[in-house]
Amino acid sequence: MTKRESGRKFKMYVNGAWTTGESEESFEVVSPASGEPLATVPKGTAEDAKAAVEAAVAAQDTIAQMPIRERCKLGVRITEEIRRSVKEYAIDCSLEHGKPLRESLAEVEDAITNILWQVEDLKRWDSPVQEGYSKDNVLYMVLHEPLGTVASITPWNFPWVLPAEFVVQAMLAGNSVVFKPASNTPISAVHLVECIDRAGVPPGVINMVTGPGDEVGATLVEHPLVDGIGFTGETTTGLDIAKRAGLKKLTLELGGLGPLIIMGDAKIEPAVEDIAFGCFTTTGQCCVANERIFVHEDIHDRVVRALVDRVKKIKVGFPLDDATDMGPINNRATLQKVEKHVADAVKRGADVVAGGKRVPGMMTDLYYDPTVVDHVPRDALFNKVETFGPTAPIFEFADLDEAIEMANAPRYGLSMAIHTANLRVAMEAAKRLKAGQVCINEPVYSWDYFNPWGGFRNSGLGRIAGRWSLDAFSELKTIMINVGRSPWPG
Ligand code: NAD
Repeated sequence: MTKRESGRKFKMYVNGAWTTGESEESFEVVSPASGEPLATVPKGTAEDAKAAVEAAVAAQDTIAQMPIRERCKLGVRITEEIRRSVKEYAIDCSLEHGKPLRESLAEVEDAITNILWQVEDLKRWDSPVQEGYSKDNVLYMVLHEPLGTVASITPWNFPWVLPAEFVVQAMLAGNSVVFKPASNTPISAVHLVECIDRAGVPPGVINMVTGPGDEVGATLVEHPLVDGIGFTGETTTGLDIAKRAGLKKLTLELGGLGPLIIMGDAKIEPAVEDIAFGCFTTTGQCCVANERIFVHEDIHDRVVRALVDRVKKIKVGFPLDDATDMGPINNRATLQKVEKHVADAVKRGADVVAGGKRVPGMMTDLYYDPTVVDHVPRDALFNKVETFGPTAPIFEFADLDEAIEMANAPRYGLSMAIHTANLRVAMEAAKRLKAGQVCINEPVYSWDYFNPWGGFRNSGLGRIAGRWSLDAFSELKTIMINVGRSPWPG
């Protein structure tokens, strides 16, 4: 069940056909968990990206004019196809990503729930009708219209949920799509597109081009016939896209530096559980990972002691082993960034109180201990740049003003959290924290299918999830009718 057949060669998908791409070159996908090659995938080019855009533009009317009822049926059929092979897909996801199988199973199931949620939202996607104010006898109807062709560019850390939200949702909103998945996790993308193909999505409506971001992704971003971009990835890439995209409608879901503020009156045990969940789920490689922990000076020592005890129980191991809580880091660049941030904090006077090194004797050298770093100073890299790894950097604070100032300072604002027993303090923090989401007595690492998902400041532009994705991938059009002119001409 867990062994993959060797020599798998996947293709990309353009205009309803599986293809090797114009260059016929490919790249290998190597498991960060075992070091084994898992498959090859076409190395798409700028020409492949242009061909996919042409196919998508030609298919625009097919999907835009498809009745909502039929689009909903397509969405449901995609989920039925995913459901047939959840475990198989989850195993590939764990092998190419490194996350434990139980997380991959939850993610593939989440992709199904996401799409079904979006289908229900599409059925109920309403818009206002209003009587004229400056004009008499006039009625205004506001309608949703698809953008046209959307480029969906996704990262490696959630290879099922993010394409479900961006690719399928853009189609449900009536757009044709060119999907460019991350090169570290393209196998999950291929499986999703296999489901899309089997579900009977018409040719050209969804296309997938695998290959390098700076060629395939950049071509899509600059292409004059692409009308909208749904991008999830690093803030630096998002900024580059914003500069090159011109007037395309942008939805950018970018990095976070998620802080958890633990006030002096907070309960220690749930706070520590939420730190462990927020810092080490997905090996810390999540946009809403708990990147910084601010602990009130009155309870600092007790929180750190309890956290160190909790971290000792986290079992690092091969993702397909049942006992594994945390798998490897997905790639070498991320591992090196984690090591750099730990070394930088230590150089500035911080103490590593748990972990702080690679785990010896594993199948690859990408396994890293769950790590707690205490007494981190404010000028450390941990407090400036997303680490994206299994680290819990602890900072001390004296009062709420100081904690809020520290939380907001780096100008990232995706998800933030506070633990406190005082509702007034919680609500004051919720209002003053500059983030798309504030969690009270919950982990930073939290979301649901329907909350408007997105960040303030360096964490992005626009909102997705549920009906918010429909809004992201559409335009509003006003139709104005004079209802007082009677009889109507003709
Ligand atoms: P990344 O920016 O390196 O890559 C994301 C995608 O963009 C990939 O498909 C890549 O090939 C492509 N790309 C790279 N350069 C490009 C270019 N010049 N033009 C167009 N496309 C290009 O990000 P990553 O390392 O894959 O993902 C991790 C990042 O994603 C983290 O910063 C994380 O916080 C963020 N993220 C954010 C959210 C959110 O909801 N805000 C969710 C998940 C991940």
